[in-house]
Amino acid sequence: MSQFWSSIVNTLTPYVPGEQPKISNLIKLNTNENPYGPSPKVLEAIKAHTDESLRLYPDPNADEIKDAISAYFTAKGTPVQRDQVFVGNGSDEVLAHTFQALLKQDEPILFPDISYSFYPVYCGLYQVEYKNIPLTDTFEINPKDYRQSNGGIIFPNPNAPTGRLLALEAVEDILKNNSKSVVVVDEAYIDFGGQSAVSLVNQYNNLLVIQTLSKSRSLAGIRLGYAIGHPALIEGLERVKNSFNSYPIDKLAIKATVASFADEVYFEQTCARIVRSRDLLSEQLTAFGFEVIPSSANFVFAKHPEHNAEALALALRDRSIIVRYFNKPNIDQHLRISIGTEDECQALIQALREILTPS
Ligand code: PMP
Repeated sequence: MSQFWSSIVNTLTPYVPGEQPKISNLIKLNTNENPYGPSPKVLEAIKAHTDESLRLYPDPNADEIKDAISAYFTAKGTPVQRDQVFVGNGSDEVLAHTFQALLKQDEPILFPDISYSFYPVYCGLYQVEYKNIPLTDTFEINPKDYRQSNGGIIFPNPNAPTGRLLALEAVEDILKNNSKSVVVVDEAYIDFGGQSAVSLVNQYNNLLVIQTLSKSRSLAGIRLGYAIGHPALIEGLERVKNSFNSYPIDKLAIKATVASFADEVYFEQTCARIVRSRDLLSEQLTAFGFEVIPSSANFVFAKHPEHNAEALALALRDRSIIVRYFNKPNIDQHLRISIGTEDECQALIQALREILTPS
C-alpha cells in the first residue's frame, strides 16, 4: 500500500501520545490527567442533556461556550468578548489550527527546546520552519532570547515537561519585543500556579493564549480547548476550522464545558489540593536525592543522579505505577510524574523507597 502514500506523509514524524493502558488497576501518573474527576455538576449536565436531541447537529460556533468563557474572564477582571474566543476539540486541535493559520510565515518561528513535543510535529505537518531556542541551565526560558522574531513565537507556560513558570512580566517583555509577530502562550497548566496572560489580551493584539479543560477542569475525555486573543487572530482560526470541521464541539461537550465554568468552587478546591500534593511530593523526592525542578504545573520533573530514569520507570511499572521518562540527549535521566491523589502520591513514594533502598 505504501505506493499510495504521498511524499509528504512519508516524511511525517507523528506525535506519540502517552500510554492509556487497557488494564485498570494501575496508578496512572503518566499523562497529567486530573486525579479527582470532573465536577459533579458537569456530570449532572451531561446526563441531563443525554436525550433524543442528540440526533441534531450541535451549534457549529459553540456560542454557549464562548459566552461562558467570556463571562468567566470578564468576571475575573479582563473583559473578553465572544469574538475574542475560539474553541476546538482539545487544545491540540486549537494548536493545529494556530500553526496552520497564524504561525506559517516566511521566517522561522521560535520555540524553546525543551517544550511540548507536539510543536515540531505541527511544523512538519504544515511545513512551518522553526528554530529551537535552548533553555537556560536551570531549565528556564530567557525572554532575551526571543527578541524580534519575524515568524512568530510559541511556548508553554508553565513549560512542559519541565513545569517551570515564566513570570507574567517576562511574557510581556516577549510581547513588547515582537509586536509584529504572533506570540502564542500555551497555558495548558496555568491554573496550577502563575498568572495567566489572558489579562494582557486587550493590550497586545499579537497575543494568543491557549487553555484547555483537560487538566485543571478534569475533562480530558471530552476534548475541549480554547484560545483567547484579538478578534483578527480568532477570525484566522475560525477560517481554518470552517474549512476543516464545521462541528468540532459535540453537544454534550458544550453542556459539560458551560457547567464546568459555572462551578468555580470545585475547580479551585481540586486545583489547590493538587498543588499541595505537588509541593509535598517535590519535598519527598528531594529527600530521596532527586533533583526536582520547581514546578508550577500538575506534574514534577525530576532526575536522580545515581539512577537511570528508564530503569526507575520500569521498576515503578513492576509495582503497577506508570510515569513518563525521557531519554533524549537534553532531558535524559528525567522522570515526569503527574500528581495523583494523596494516596497515589504516597504509594509512589513507598515504591521509590523500596526501589532506592533495597533491603
Ligand atoms: N499543550 C501542552 C503543553 C500539553 O502538555 C498538552 C497535553 N498533552 C496540550 C497542550 C494538549 O492538551 P489537550 O489537547 O488535552 O487540550
